[in-house]
Amino acid sequence: MRIACVGGGPGGLYLAILMKRRNPDHDVTVLERNPAGVTYGWGVVFWDDLLEGLRANDPPTARAIEAAAFRWADQRILVDGQPPASLAGHGYGMGRQRLLDILTARAQELGVQVRFESEVDDPAGLDDPDLVVACDGVNSRLRRRHPDRFGTRIDTGRNRYIWLGTTKVFDSFTFAFVRTRAGWIWCHAYGFDAATSTFIVECSPETWAGLGFGQLGLDESVRRLERIFERHLDGHRLVGQAPARDRTPWLGFRTVTNEHWHHGRVVLLGDAAHTTHFTIGSGTKLAIEDAIGLADALGGHGHPEAALAAYERQRKTALLLLQQEARNSARWFEHLPRYIELGKPRFAALLNHRRSPLLTRMSPASYYRLRHLTEVLPVLDRLWRWASGRGRARYVRRAPTG
Ligand SMILES: Cc1cc2nc3c(=O)[nH]c(=O)nc-3n(C[C@H](O)[C@H](O)[C@H](O)COP(=O)(O)OP(=O)(O)OC[C@H]3O[C@@H](n4cnc5c(N)ncnc54)[C@H](O)[C@@H]3O)c2cc1C
Repeated sequence: MRIACVGGGPGGLYLAILMKRRNPDHDVTVLERNPAGVTYGWGVVFWDDLLEGLRANDPPTARAIEAAAFRWADQRILVDGQPPASLAGHGYGMGRQRLLDILTARAQELGVQVRFESEVDDPAGLDDPDLVVACDGVNSRLRRRHPDRFGTRIDTGRNRYIWLGTTKVFDSFTFAFVRTRAGWIWCHAYGFDAATSTFIVECSPETWAGLGFGQLGLDESVRRLERIFERHLDGHRLVGQAPARDRTPWLGFRTVTNEHWHHGRVVLLGDAAHTTHFTIGSGTKLAIEDAIGLADALGGHGHPEAALAAYERQRKTALLLLQQEARNSARWFEHLPRYIELGKPRFAALLNHRRSPLLTRMSPASYYRLRHLTEVLPVLDRLWRWASGRGRARYVRRAPTG
C-alpha cells in the first residue's frame, strides 16, 4: 500500500511508524511543510495512559519517550492573597520538538521517507498514493478543500490564550491566578525538560482588552505578562514562540469537529479531524490514538473503504465523552469568577472537577456540598455524561455543518 501522510506532527509520524511496523512493504511518506527541527508551541503534558498505549504498539518509541519525559508531581493552585493549595498526582511534560525528533528518528529507522519543507495544498499533486492521510493540524488545508463533504464545524472559545515558554522549571503543574484592575488572568505552567517550562496565559476577552493586549505585539505582550506574573517567575523571563513571530500572539481556542472523517482516498487524523481544549491536555494522545485506530482498521479490513468507515466509527465513539469534558473544562475557565470567589479549599476542589457536566448546571456551592455529603454525585455525573454522549452522537450524525 502507498500511503502519504500530509503533516509531520505526532499523529502523522506515529501512523507512519505503525504502518511500516505492520508491513515493511508499505511505501509510507510523511510530507511536512516545516524544515527539520522547526515546530510551533512549547511542551505538552501527558499521563501514564499514553505511555501504556505506546508500549502496546511500538515499545522502542515508548522507551525513548519515557526516557526523555520530564516528570512533574502534584498540582499547585495559587490564588492572589490566599495560601497555596495542592492536589496530589503526577504527569509528564515533553517539548513538542523533542517528541517530534523521537518519532521522526523511529519512522526513518523503519524506512519511512520523511520529507521536510514539503507543503501540500492539493492531494491531486501527490504521486498517486492509495491513501492520503490529512494529519496537517487544526487548520488542515486538505480538510478545507472540502468543508461540506467533511461537515466541518469550528467553534472559537471566548477566552484568549497565549502559549509561551519560560526558563523557570515548574516541578508541579501550576495554576497561578492574578487579580488585576481589569479582572482575573492566570497561567497553566509545567516543566517539560530540565531547563524549560510551558507557560500558557489565559483570560477573558474583557480582561485582555482592559490590560491593553489588543494594542501590543508579541514582545510587548510578553514583557507585560512578565510584570503581571513577576512573583511566580522568580526573576525568570517569558519567551514567545520564535518560529511564528509574525502570528497573532493571542488566540481563541478552536474546537474542530467533522461529521465525516473521510472522503474518497483522503482520511482525517488528529487535530485535522477534532480538537479538544488545551485545559484537558489530551490532543497529542488523541492524535496518537487515532493513528493506532487507523492502523488497526487498515490491517483488519480487506477493503479500504470498509477500513476507513470502521476507523471513523470507532474513533468518533471513543472521543464523545472527552470532547464533552473538554467543552465543560473550557466553559469552567470562561466562568472563572463564579468559582474563584468561593475561596480555598472550595475553589481548588472545583477546579479539579471542571470536566463535570453538573458543575455548570448547579450552583458551585451546592455542588461542593453535595460532593462531600453524598455518593450520589459521581453516579449523576456518569449518567449525565452518558446521556449527553448519546445526544451528541445523534447531533454529530444529523447536523448539517459547513
Ligand atoms: C495552547 C495549547 C496547548 C496544548 N497542550 C497540550 C498538552 O499539554 N497535551 C496534549 O496532549 N496536547 C496539547 N495540545 C494539543 C496538541 O498540540 C495537538 O492536539 C497535537 O499536536 C495534534 O497532533 P497532530 O499530529 O494532529 O497535529 P500537529 O501537531 O498540529 O501537526 C500537524 C503538522 O502538519 C504540518 N502541516 C500543516 N499544514 C501542512 C501542509 N499543507 N503540508 C504539509 N504539512 C503541513 C504542520 O507544520 C505540523 O507539523 C495543546 C494545544 C494548544 C493549542
